[in-house]
Amino acid sequence: MQRFETDTDYLLEVTRQLIACDSPVGYYNRIHALLKMLLADIGYEMQVDNKATAYVVVPGASSEKTVGVNAHLDTIGLVVRGFNDDGTLRVRQLGGINYHSIEGETCHVICRDGSSVNGQIICNHHSIHVFEDAKTMERTEDTMAVSLIADVKSPADARKLGVSEGAVAAIDPHFIAYDNGYIISRFLDDKACVAAQLHTMKWLAQTGTQPAYDTLFAFPIYEEIGHGGAYLPTVVDEYVSLDITLIGPDYASEEHSVGVIVSDIRSPYDWNLSNRLIRCAEKVLEPGRWNQQVAFHFSTDANASYFAGNNLKSGAFGPATLSTHGRERTHMDALVGTENLCHAYVLGYGD
Ligand SMILES: [Zn+2]
Repeated sequence: MQRFETDTDYLLEVTRQLIACDSPVGYYNRIHALLKMLLADIGYEMQVDNKATAYVVVPGASSEKTVGVNAHLDTIGLVVRGFNDDGTLRVRQLGGINYHSIEGETCHVICRDGSSVNGQIICNHHSIHVFEDAKTMERTEDTMAVSLIADVKSPADARKLGVSEGAVAAIDPHFIAYDNGYIISRFLDDKACVAAQLHTMKWLAQTGTQPAYDTLFAFPIYEEIGHGGAYLPTVVDEYVSLDITLIGPDYASEEHSVGVIVSDIRSPYDWNLSNRLIRCAEKVLEPGRWNQQVAFHFSTDANASYFAGNNLKSGAFGPATLSTHGRERTHMDALVGTENLCHAYVLGYGD
C-alpha cells in the first residue's frame, strides 16, 4: 500500500473557497477568476477555450499519449424564464434539481450585467397556515419560484433591480466542515473534486515531478446539463472524470470511500482504462475504502466526451457522497482518497 501525503488544510480550504464562489451551469466569470488565482498560487497558468473549459497542460515523462483528467466547475442552479404577476421569478432548472431540497433556500440571482440580487426559493403555496395543499402540492418548475428579497410587487419592480430572462440563480451552499472530518454542503459535486485535482497539480509542481504522460487537466462548466466534455483537444487519448460517486442500496460505499465508476446510465466506461483505475485503487487505498460502481441516473464529462464522438477511452472515480444534488455529505477521508487515486493515475500506477 502506498499512501501519498495530503495537505488536508489545503484540500479543505480550497473546497471551501470554490463552493463559496457561485458558478451555476454556464456562468463562469467569477469561478474562472478564482481558479486562475488558485492555479497561479501553485505555479500554473490557466488557459480557456471558446467553450469556457479551463485547462492546464503538464508535460509528462513520456509523450507516447496524452491523458486528460477533469473535474467540473459548474453546479446545478436555476435560470429565470419569466415573471409572475406578483414579481416572483419563474424558473427552469439548470441540471438535475430536486425542488424539495431547495424549498425555502436563499439564493443569489446573477443578472446579465454580473450584479446580484438576493432571493429566496419558495413554493407558490408556501405556507401550511394559508394553503390547504401546502404539504401535498407537487414541487415542480411550475409550482416553485424565486422571490426577490426586496420590495418587489410586480415584474416591473423585479426588472428595475436588473433581473431579466436568462438571469441565473445560485443557491446558497451552506458549507459546514465538522471537526470529525464530515463535510456537509451543496456543490461538493464537483468542487471537492476540483480541489482534489488542484492538490495533485500542486504536488507535481512543488516536488518537480512529471506525470507519467503528457497530462491535460481540464475544468469544464457544462457538466450538469451533460455536455461539459463534448469538446476537448483531439490530442487527448483517455479522459478521466473526478466526480461524486453514490451511496445507496446498490453501492458498497459510505462517506469514507472512493468509488470507481465502471458504467453509468449512458455507457460502460472503457474496460481497460477502468481496470487501470482499479489497479491504482488497489495500490493506494485500503480495502473497504473503495468500490466499483454501476451508476444509475448519473453520468460524467468523460462519458459526455464519448457521446460527442471523441476518439478516446473514458473513466471516472470520486468521493462517495450522500444526498447528492441536495445538501451533500461526504468525509475528508473520501477527498483524500480521491486525491490519492488521481495522484496514482497521473503517475501511471495502473500501467
Ligand atoms: Zn458532478
